[in-house]
Amino acid sequence: MDIFCKIINGEIPSKTIYEDDKVLVILDVNPRGNGHSLIIPKKHYKDLYDIDNETLIHIFSVAKKIGDMLEDKLHCNGITLEQNNGICQEVKHFHLHVIPRYKYDDIIDVDEVYNILKH
Ligand SMILES: [Zn+2]
Repeated sequence: MDIFCKIINGEIPSKTIYEDDKVLVILDVNPRGNGHSLIIPKKHYKDLYDIDNETLIHIFSVAKKIGDMLEDKLHCNGITLEQNNGICQEVKHFHLHVIPRYKYDDIIDVDEVYNILKH
């Protein structure tokens, strides 16, 4: 079983910043910017070729919400969405990266980011 299925099953802890019936949004453990998040469908889909359009649309609607949250709470200056497949995909469970970008990079601890986003 891949690490994201284990997180969804509650076998591995994660810093969850958003959840609904279809997806879980967690903070990336190796962030490329404060608030780097992963949107993960709760049902296992391997990649872009495996996932259905309805779930894909839902994931992108959640990306808008998360983008708003990151802008409101972390004051990022831009957002990059990234989705990898095949040889560039590390975990073989579909996930969309939401990577906030800042004019000035000032990396803060993931725990601190989590506290800001949870309150
Ligand atoms: Zn999985």
